[in-house]
Amino acid sequence: MEKLILDGNRVADSIKGNLIDRITELSKKGIVPCLATILVGDNPSSKTYVRMKGNACKRLGMQSIRIDLPADITTDELISQINKLNHDPDVHGILLQHPVPHHIDERAAFDAISIEKDVDGVTTLGYALNAFGAATFPSCTPAAIMAILEYYNLQVEGKHAVVIGRSPILGKPVSAMLLNKNATVTTCHSRTINLEDIVRLGDVVVAAVGKPNFVRGDWIKPGAIVLDAGYNEGNVGDVDFNECLENAYAITPVPAGVGPVTIATLLKHTVDAAEKSLLR
Ligand code: NAP
Repeated sequence: MEKLILDGNRVADSIKGNLIDRITELSKKGIVPCLATILVGDNPSSKTYVRMKGNACKRLGMQSIRIDLPADITTDELISQINKLNHDPDVHGILLQHPVPHHIDERAAFDAISIEKDVDGVTTLGYALNAFGAATFPSCTPAAIMAILEYYNLQVEGKHAVVIGRSPILGKPVSAMLLNKNATVTTCHSRTINLEDIVRLGDVVVAAVGKPNFVRGDWIKPGAIVLDAGYNEGNVGDVDFNECLENAYAITPVPAGVGPVTIATLLKHTVDAAEKSLLR
């Protein structure tokens, strides 16, 4: 069977290519789209993600502000920093890098982000709008997965999609987005019984587990589409790529799969937010 390796860099380039003229137009009106990223503590992976996002902004002529906060900051102090960004007219998107240290109420912090600047769809309202298919800014990784399917014209309507993972920024929103595209969706998690057998029913499999090489080759139905959202230490996905390639029809690699599309989506949402700020 012919295989389709879903090239995230190609999809990302097409998203970013469409932003260049829009950024130029905004600059004529004196606006430089600006993403503020907040990093609490010094988790090395989070530092890398935040750096990558800042560099991606610079490469497109966008602005990024990085706010590094100590690991022992309180929830109230973090929320007060978020509020400053909410009120800063030069900031169009706010990204609080997940995860934050355990003592912080992450939900309260996410919900402090104003909906107009919630470019990663982390607020309760943003999540709910996404579930209704009405989000301005759905979470970036789920949106990236959907963008890859669309770019390669892979239809999910009527198919059985199995999502492994139910986090509020990934597994749950991507399940809702697949459902809104008329897939029949099963969302699995750590308490799922007979996980492998359920994955074997998937015409579409989304891995969002956070465990390296978790999904094995013999779990994949012949002809399935496999999307690996995982990004573990050493650039390893949640899917054993070489094993799963055997049965899959289409599959995302790691790196150069979902990751670059997630970043491109974040940039797109920030440009969208900057344009919308002109209307207020
Ligand atoms: P998370 O919050 O830790 O959620 C992991 C999910 O996997 C949970 O729902 C958990 O179930 C489930 N799970 C854990 N062990 C399992 C098992 N043995 N069997 C079945 N399900 C299991 O992680 P996340 O933030 O969603 O991220 C998931 C992955 O995506 C990570 O590799 C992360 O690095 C990656 N990620 C990538 C991007 C990107 O840009 N590519 C962005 C964000 C995240 P419970 O709910 O029952 O605990």
